[in-house]
Amino acid sequence: MRKHKKRCRAFDLRDPVLQYRHLKNLVPVERYGSFCGENMLFTWDDGYRILSRCPECDALVLIQHSEYHGANDSYYSDYFAVDSVEEAHMLNKKYNGWDIETKYKGERIYL
Ligand SMILES: [Zn+2]
Repeated sequence: MRKHKKRCRAFDLRDPVLQYRHLKNLVPVERYGSFCGENMLFTWDDGYRILSRCPECDALVLIQHSEYHGANDSYYSDYFAVDSVEEAHMLNKKYNGWDIETKYKGERIYL
């Protein structure tokens, strides 16, 4: 497997504002939509995953966007550091939206 081996420095930042400022520049590489087979790629009511590249760090980040529909709709984004496109595919197959938040042990940022 070809490894990308670059890591976005947002995962080293501790301030959510700085994390957000850094991560908002991510450029989509591949859009996975809301499902991978039977696997829901979001939590709550709606959402999707996108593999993105950080232009500053040249690193790959898998993003899961989720929406909660209620009196006030809420939006959540989870960012996962991945080394390769293959690793992102593996995570989509292995973890649904809830499991990637609760069972996956890799690096992540919740915003
Ligand atoms: Zn970065």
